[in-house]
Amino acid sequence: MQSSDGDLNKQTIILPNAGTGETGVRRNAVYPELLEVFKPELNTIYDIFYHGYKLSKNQQCMGVRPILDPLTRQRANYYEWETYEQVNQRITWFGSGLLDFFKNDLQYTRLEQIPLGIWAVNRPEWHVSELACSAYSMYIVALYDTLGPDTVEYVINHAELETVVCTKDHVVDLLKLREKIPQLKAIVCVDPFLNIEEERAMKGWAAEKGVQIVQFSELEERGKKNPLPHNYAKRDDLACLMYTSGTTGMPKGAMLTHGNLIAAVSGSMQANATLTTDVELCYLPLAHIYGRIVDLVILCGGGSLGFFSGSVDTLMEDMMILKPTTFPAVPRLLNRIYAKLAQLANEPGAKASLLRWAIDTKLKNLKEGRGYEHPILDRLLFKKINQKVLGGNVRYIISGSAPIGVDVLQFLRVVFSCDIREGYGATETAAVSCMTMHSDSRAGHIGRPAGCNEIKLVDVPEMNYLSTDKPYPRGEICIRGYNVIKGYFKNEEKTREAFDEDGWYHSGDVGMIDERGALIIIDRKKNIFKLAQGEYIAPEKIENIYAKHPIVAQFYLHGDSYHHALVGIMVPDPEGLNDLVKAKLPNLAGASYQELCNNKQVTKAVHDLLTQVGKKAGLRGFEFAKAIRLVTDPFTIENGLLTPTLKVKRPEARKYYEKEIDELYQELGSATDNTSKL
Ligand code: AMP
Repeated sequence: MQSSDGDLNKQTIILPNAGTGETGVRRNAVYPELLEVFKPELNTIYDIFYHGYKLSKNQQCMGVRPILDPLTRQRANYYEWETYEQVNQRITWFGSGLLDFFKNDLQYTRLEQIPLGIWAVNRPEWHVSELACSAYSMYIVALYDTLGPDTVEYVINHAELETVVCTKDHVVDLLKLREKIPQLKAIVCVDPFLNIEEERAMKGWAAEKGVQIVQFSELEERGKKNPLPHNYAKRDDLACLMYTSGTTGMPKGAMLTHGNLIAAVSGSMQANATLTTDVELCYLPLAHIYGRIVDLVILCGGGSLGFFSGSVDTLMEDMMILKPTTFPAVPRLLNRIYAKLAQLANEPGAKASLLRWAIDTKLKNLKEGRGYEHPILDRLLFKKINQKVLGGNVRYIISGSAPIGVDVLQFLRVVFSCDIREGYGATETAAVSCMTMHSDSRAGHIGRPAGCNEIKLVDVPEMNYLSTDKPYPRGEICIRGYNVIKGYFKNEEKTREAFDEDGWYHSGDVGMIDERGALIIIDRKKNIFKLAQGEYIAPEKIENIYAKHPIVAQFYLHGDSYHHALVGIMVPDPEGLNDLVKAKLPNLAGASYQELCNNKQVTKAVHDLLTQVGKKAGLRGFEFAKAIRLVTDPFTIENGLLTPTLKVKRPEARKYYEKEIDELYQELGSATDNTSKL
């Protein structure tokens, strides 16, 4: 089955001389030589931008929906664009202004390898700042827009930040934190002040706290008057410290060099070339590596980035206006889209039944290797769905950062009639490690290594995963390549835990390599625990199974070595809950969400439904949540239950729901366990 991206049945090659307790090293079969950079002139991320600049100098580069009213923050129904030429000027002006400010106002004696914090939701100034740092040998420290004060304080102190670029709301946050971040010297505010009074008040408050405030635009003006020649960073220099959002403990600062980032961009470009006509909606948080790399790839290819309006609530509106050609996404969002579309198809009536038939026809074609397109059905039906949900121009979607269900992926492929590639990677591998091939219509795997890195599987004997397993080798996925970082900033202990002396990053993910050479994630080494009877549980795997049902908005599965059974805390989706109540408990229709969540009959009906979901997915008896509690308040970053990448913070969740968990175990103690035979 030869295709333009190689033979689907031989996705990887195996290097000879495997070590004991591990598989041979696997590389991309089409690009067996490890790729450092796809063009030799690329040394920094500024060069990545400049590559796009040469292709699209006077074409649109970055765009925003302008704010029409600064008080209501209402946005225009169009995008306003800056060209590559204009963005390039801003990079030089901002970088020059910043250096002048450092030298004259802050009296820095050293002007190279200075860290600059960025604490803002995605906007053009984010990229202008990071590219200016690259052009003038500084590096950035990325702070999630949604970080709470404790983590901000930790990161600013740990990274030794003296200057932070941020939005106006965070100016206030920083000034409030001032006493705990004594080394902070200056804040660069990206938002204009509303009026002279606001400016005076802010600057006065900052002066009292011994911090300077300067506006982003002031620095650009300063640099415009006195532009400085670029002083590029080197390939091995730090481009960024990216604090990974660990689900336990304080975050670790991944030291990403320019070399790591350009290797990741090169590997991506090799797997999936972008076009100058590509348009991407920039909404994935830029403080996370996934968002950064997909943007750099678009810039490298001379395409354009349209920034979202700052809230996921208006994401679909932004999509309709921007009409992007690519859509990098996370399973959480794709699951939501899937649940809504699947619901449409399941409605009664002739229209829905036609839709169901059309979807089934296309799914069958896909399964039989005839692709996701259908000349008639697409024209009649699916093009319109693509238009209504994605704007109509999306030619490929990327799903990354977490596993996506096979049924969700295949459903969306046929409904949107576009390519969906699944990508796998981590902050430590600059987002890129493996990716599925364009021509591969199967799902449930993450394809093969990108050309910039190689992988191997190492035995995890305590979980019974061995490289000698039949029919497929299994083990912890280890990754090595030009994209892989050398370690964590000022944290030798964690560096030694994750990176060995041969440069392999031990990911903690457990994988299996199939007969085609494609990698499949099957488990997680970290975040596993033993139940009292000695069975290992990978809770995220089970949560993902439950979360695919539209009734589940969020799910936290709890268990430990003191108990025989698992219990769950679930935030139900209001619509899904209403549908279930209408069908199973019609006497309760009309009750409020709160009342439904507190009702024992409803809880039982939801639990029965989840048990069916689990059975269908083939969960083993001890893997079922044996009791659940419905809660109304979602897990959020603000209440400390989610990481900025929206993963459940397990120790925090355990503490938060301690009372509910204890009650569930008490209930289980007195109830007959009739699901243990499942
Ligand atoms: P982060 O450093 O926050 O990007 O997290 C990296 C981790 O996310 C990986 O080690 C995996 O556990 C998980 N991950 C990323 N992509 C995928 C994927 N396609 N499938 C399953 N897990 C993934």
